[in-house]
Formats: sequence, structure tokens, C-alpha cells
Amino acid sequence: MRINNKLNIKILDKILKLRYEKQPKLRKIKKKLLSRQIAYKDIIDQESRNYDNDLLDETEKSRWDRQIRHPLINQMKIKNAKIVVFGCGGIGSNVLLGLVYAGVYNFKILDFDKINYSNLNRQTLYTPKDVNNLKIDKAKERLSKINPEVKVDTFNMEIYYPLDQDIYKIEEKNYSKEVLLIDNLIKWADYIVIALDYFGSPYLINDLCIKNKKPFYWGGVNHFLGDLFNYDPNNNSACLRCIFGKTDFINKTQFLRYKTKEDSFKGVNLGTTVIVTGNLISELIIRDICSIKNPFHGNYLIYDAYNFEIINIPIERDSNCICQNLI
Ligand SMILES: [Zn+2]
Repeated sequence: MRINNKLNIKILDKILKLRYEKQPKLRKIKKKLLSRQIAYKDIIDQESRNYDNDLLDETEKSRWDRQIRHPLINQMKIKNAKIVVFGCGGIGSNVLLGLVYAGVYNFKILDFDKINYSNLNRQTLYTPKDVNNLKIDKAKERLSKINPEVKVDTFNMEIYYPLDQDIYKIEEKNYSKEVLLIDNLIKWADYIVIALDYFGSPYLINDLCIKNKKPFYWGGVNHFLGDLFNYDPNNNSACLRCIFGKTDFINKTQFLRYKTKEDSFKGVNLGTTVIVTGNLISELIIRDICSIKNPFHGNYLIYDAYNFEIINIPIERDSNCICQNLI
């Protein structure tokens, strides 16, 4: 199927005229934004993108009809993507929901914690009935309810990794059992989500992703600020250590909030800020799966829910960072 751009813009014009009759200014802005999207080079020739959407069964075709008809969305690629999510709390919950609703089928999830009532303002996978149950069990149950065909492997494990350990100095054959498991999960995955509070553990996953040349997405929320970072192995991207430093990063940056494991439980936030931040990560992952231009690779994004804006901060790779030794 070939997309006729002129026809699309004509139809678009008609819709905009009807919808924004009373608001000509708004209509003009909407038209400009939508025309720009329609004019994307990769929309023009859908055939060259080799979608295999015919391999989907009739239920799948109907369920993801709106996405399949979107010329930029490759539903088969979404179906076949393999995602590992470290941490099934606020960010992890919302990333998982965004991805399973979008049509991702393959997950491995890791968490050690049980659900409590204070989780339920933002951890949208869970309900009051789930309190005192393991997050991974209830997450698997919920994801399977949303799509019974989904495959979810669960790992009941707490990752605690001291900040001052450098994984690059350890040979793979000498990895501990814990590090080996995490390394295997990363090797299996196409995309990795780091949704853990305490910072030593994200550093371990950061290092293993760089070693394995795998992209990861990190997110965290405090107050009205949602922070996101996306490491891209193919783009000379900075890493979490480039941003936050080696061991004395606590005082270096305003972004980082937790000094000790205990501190990380003191976070305050509005549930919706966490939900939006998690979903921004799902959206970035879906864009990457479908090879849609991602202008945020290697950048630090702050979703400022208070002023209602997204701040995009390009991050340079630190030439003294240990990620230089990992590549
Ligand atoms: Zn680095």
C-alpha cells in the first residue's frame, strides 16, 4: 500500500476545518504540526519498510488496527520485541502497561518487593486486593489479563550493588551468580528498562548494557519532576555514570536525590507525574522498535509537571568516565 500524501493533507484539511471552525489560529498550528508528520520521508514508502503485519492473526489485526493502519508503526516488530524491566514499582508498572497495550509479547521482569497501600497512587499494575503479594506475581497476572498470549518470566530478586565497584574490572567468568543472571537477562533483551530507586544497582545494569551494546532507558520521579535518560549504544551516547559521576555524584548534580538505600523510600510525588514519566519511556521504546527517528537518544529529559513542559538536555560523553573502558 502506498500512502498518497496530497490526499492525506486534503483529508486532514477537511477534518481540521470541521473541528476548529471557531479557532482559526489553533487550526493553523494543528495543520502545521500534522502536515509535518505526514510529510515524514519514512511515511511515504510503506512498502520499503517490509512490514510483516500479514503474519498477525485476525484478533491481533483487529486489536491493533489503529496502530497497524499508522504507516510508521510496525506491529510485528512490536510483537517480537524482547523487553527486560528491572523494578516493577512506579516507573516499571507504567512502562509495562504502556508496552503490553501497544502489543509487546515478551517480557522478563525483576523485583523483590511486596505491594503495599502506599504504592497504589502510581503503581497502576496493582489494586488494593494485591496488597502483601509479590509485585512480580501480580504484574504477571495483570499483564496476562490484558493479553493472554503474553510471555512473562519473573525473577524474585533484590539487586544491591555497591556504588564503588567497577564491573569493567571483573572478567565475565568471575561474575557472581547475581551479576551473571542480570547479564543473561540483558543479553536476552532488545531493550532494557532501569526502574530502580537506589543508584548502585542502575550503575551495574548501566555497565552491563554498555558491555553488551544494548540500549537502556532509565527513569525516576521526585516531586513534580520526572527524569528520563536513554542510552543508545550506536550513537556514542553518554551513560548514567557520565551524567552522575563515579562515587561522589551525590553533591555534583541537582537531579540525584538518594544518597543511601534507606533515603530512596523518602520520595514524594504526584501519582500522575510517575504515570506520565513511565509512559514517556514506553513511547520512546515503541519509537525505537519501529525505527522512528528518536531525537532524544543520549539526551537527558526532564518532564516538569509543575510548569508543564519537557526539557531536553544533550549530554556529552565524559572522556574520563569508565564507560570508555567498557566499549
Ligand atoms: Zn559514561
